[in-house]
Amino acid sequence: MKLQEIRNIDIDGKKVFIRCDFNVPMDEYNNISDDRRIRSALNTIRYCIDRDCSIILASHFGRPTEPGEEKFSLKPIAKRLHTLLKQEIKMAKNVVQDDTLETAKNLQSGEILLLENLRYNPAEKANDEEFAKKLASMADIYINDAFGVSHRAHASVEAITKYFDKNHKAAGFLLAKEIKFFHKIIDNPKRPFVSIVGGSKVSGKLEVLHNLITKVDKILIGGGMAFTFLKALGHEIGNSLVEDDLMPEALKIMEEAKELGVKVYLPVDIVVAEAFDPEAIAKHVTIQEIPKNWMGLDIGPATAQLFRLALSDANTILWNGPMGVYEMEKFAKGSTRISNTVAQSFATTVVGGGDTADLVRVTGDEDDMTFISTGCGASLELIEGKVLPGVKALIIEE
Ligand code: AMP
Repeated sequence: MKLQEIRNIDIDGKKVFIRCDFNVPMDEYNNISDDRRIRSALNTIRYCIDRDCSIILASHFGRPTEPGEEKFSLKPIAKRLHTLLKQEIKMAKNVVQDDTLETAKNLQSGEILLLENLRYNPAEKANDEEFAKKLASMADIYINDAFGVSHRAHASVEAITKYFDKNHKAAGFLLAKEIKFFHKIIDNPKRPFVSIVGGSKVSGKLEVLHNLITKVDKILIGGGMAFTFLKALGHEIGNSLVEDDLMPEALKIMEEAKELGVKVYLPVDIVVAEAFDPEAIAKHVTIQEIPKNWMGLDIGPATAQLFRLALSDANTILWNGPMGVYEMEKFAKGSTRISNTVAQSFATTVVGGGDTADLVRVTGDEDDMTFISTGCGASLELIEGKVLPGVKALIIEE
């Protein structure tokens, strides 16, 4: 698969619409608490500035329920962009009203206009053609650099691409890098290829597990999802998170893995607690001895050691989902140990998903990972083997 990339189309002096993902986390005082998503868009923006483009930036932010809801305004993003780029950012008052279209029309080379939150307009999520047409009318070139939303068929991601031919639309540097990386490791990994999956539920990752089984050499299952597997194997799991209806599916995945010669690793010990509470009394038990009314909230040290051994010969590691409730210090050790192991490995290490990316930042292992994906849903769909709607229109060779 070959994507049309920004560096392969002529954008010199043109008006460029860049779909970014500025959906950054905010603290209670409305300060941006992590501006990584803004910083990762800078390569594409600077490339356009250097080519004398006039630039229109667009993004969604949070989930506004009515147009103009101040809490979801992109104004703080404009300020941060100004700080990072050291140039004026024109902030539009809305998304596609006449005054904004007029400002876009008069935008000069090197100038940047940031549209208001795309989701102020319900037409964005409805993938509305008229809305997309208005967005498209602002520019000569369309660039998608929003990996995190490329699995959504939204107007600024999918419908808009219909208004540009293949020489006038392309993937920005961030999107192209994410897509290339995932395809490289999914289609042609250096073996042994080991995947670590965790997080809360099997249901959200069922398709991922089915697809991974056909690609990897080993799969390590931790987090809340492990309990559905453990219960399906006949273990008492107390009050741990479980999806009873998916137990047959869990057995099927393990059966499939066996047929394919893929080794499946499950926890052998667990940190259990009396309640889902950071202050709850906790203890460490083997999976044979989980007390009836307790719940498993982290993998134990023996499991971390087992997983370390299983990862020791890996040449590619793909990790998605924490090993426990890492948000609570008491149940973060398992995830931290795995983060350290992955970081120390000589393998190509790819971390996907918002929680896992957040986790490796907290553990200080961020810089030792080969690649950290910015999108959660999008990276899962790529692992499932899907072609993302926002990427489909940018493919120039299958
Ligand atoms: P996901 O969005 O499916 O990747 O799940 C991430 C969430 O799973 C995190 O918020 C963790 O706190 C949660 N999680 C991990 N392990 C467990 C567990 N054993 N029980 C309950 N929740 C868990």
